[in-house]
Amino acid sequence: MASGWAKDDATSDQIRDSLNDEIRRARSALPQGPGSEYCDECGEKIPEARRKALPGARLCVACQEEADKSAQRTNPYNRKGSKGSQLR
Ligand SMILES: [Zn+2]
Repeated sequence: MASGWAKDDATSDQIRDSLNDEIRRARSALPQGPGSEYCDECGEKIPEARRKALPGARLCVACQEEADKSAQRTNPYNRKGSKGSQLR
């Protein structure tokens, strides 16, 4: 009987993994939600103060600046101020 549980766990782990992939992909398009403890870009730990100030932050300060710069270049409206409008 115990093996039945183990199998279920393995299956749901796989489902959870692919779900996490989907979520990660969605998050890279929409900077919102719980954010990340570590920078998506360089893996650096994001300071708690920054995460509190910017709850959707997924990048460290340096990478966020880079992302903001390229976001401004490609889409001037893709900025923090218009977070809501991106979601329609
Ligand atoms: Zn970074």
